[in-house]
Amino acid sequence: MAKTTEIANAKFVEVKCPDCSNKQIMFVKAATRVSCQACGSTLATPSGGKAAIKGEIVEVVE
Ligand SMILES: [Zn+2]
Repeated sequence: MAKTTEIANAKFVEVKCPDCSNKQIMFVKAATRVSCQACGSTLATPSGGKAAIKGEIVEVVE
C-alpha cells in the first residue's frame, strides 16, 4: 500500500480493482470515469481535481 504522502504528489497510480483484483495504472486527475479493464467495475470517478478512487492504491507510478 502506497504512503499517503506519496499519493498526495502522485500523477499516476496503480489501483487494484475491489471486485476482481486486477491492477491497472490510472491518471490521478482523471476527468472521466475509470473502469476496470478486466471486469468493467468503476475504479474512479471524476471529482473536480483529483478523481475519487474506489480501489486500493497499491503503488505510485510517478
Ligand atoms: Zn475488476
